[in-house]
Amino acid sequence: MVITEAVGFINVTRQCNVNCKRCYLTESHRAAKERLPGNTLAAFLTSDFWQDRPVTLIWEGGEPSVVGHSLMQLYVDHASDLLPHASQTMVTNCFSVPNWLIDLSHLAFNGQVETTFALGHKFSLSGSEDLYTRRFTAGLDRFWDAGVVCTVNVELNAETIERGPTALANLMLSTKAKVWEFDISVDFRRFLAQPNYQASSTPELPLTASYASAWAYLHALNAAHGQQLRDAGITIGAFEQVAGEANNQFNVMSEDRFLTLNPDGTVTTNPLYSDLEGTFLGNLQEAPLDELLSSPRRLARVIAERRRLMPCRACPHFSYCSGGPAHVPVSDGSGECAGGKALWDLLLEKKHCA
Ligand code: SF4
Repeated sequence: MVITEAVGFINVTRQCNVNCKRCYLTESHRAAKERLPGNTLAAFLTSDFWQDRPVTLIWEGGEPSVVGHSLMQLYVDHASDLLPHASQTMVTNCFSVPNWLIDLSHLAFNGQVETTFALGHKFSLSGSEDLYTRRFTAGLDRFWDAGVVCTVNVELNAETIERGPTALANLMLSTKAKVWEFDISVDFRRFLAQPNYQASSTPELPLTASYASAWAYLHALNAAHGQQLRDAGITIGAFEQVAGEANNQFNVMSEDRFLTLNPDGTVTTNPLYSDLEGTFLGNLQEAPLDELLSSPRRLARVIAERRRLMPCRACPHFSYCSGGPAHVPVSDGSGECAGGKALWDLLLEKKHCA
């Protein structure tokens, strides 16, 4: 029997100190000063779901650091007491990186955190894209200067692609960050304005850029700047993968092993569904986690996630790609797919030539 890792995404607040125009959270939740109550956290972590398997707990928001040092430390200590075998980390937007966050990253997160970035549609709360970018790069450098590995997940949104690979390569080279990854970009603002769910409760998420344009952009980045980036010590997961080995760039097959907690007690699976009410499994203030785990929505989405892979069955990369990120369709009609078949073709060719 394969023992899969369970991942708990814990939104300690949905409040945020930056304004991403296509955020998966509603504007009202990003402005509200919610704080996760300790008893809700305890209810989330008290379940057999977390036992006898590897567990990672990821502190998220909004921006988790806005809750401040004392409260964040309480959450971390409480989780360590309840699940001593779990590893912990945080996704932070790097807009503000105080000393306590660096210390906590070393002490509780094994010196590893993650952040997200895009070259467009991200602003400070005062509406400045320039200020956002300057604060982001300064915060990112603070982590790396202090020896914290802060992996950057670049959202391949339409604006980043339009600005071309050189703009991103220049930004990457201007920072001290050495680990960069890429994510497919979803237009959550469009979805939240007009939510559309499959019968399984899986959301039909619109993309901001086609798979063909996203993968062509990555290919161009590698062709034009790959050597320069490698010479600077920068690694990009998508390019370092080896055909035949497990996919390490996306969260694949996640519906039965991911759980996300909101500060108001609502629970869903994928953290990107944190404000997509049609995906909610229930509320811990009304029922225990074990009851939420048998929600018909969760069971239907686990089945739908397997069905999603039907177009992948004939693909030579299926055993290691596993269908790309599970929250988006395999195909968008652009001739490419969520997993980046053309990139896998190249990686396979490289392996055969080695
Ligand atoms: S490369 Fe594309 S078609 Fe092939 S398994 Fe991955 S997502 Fe599916």
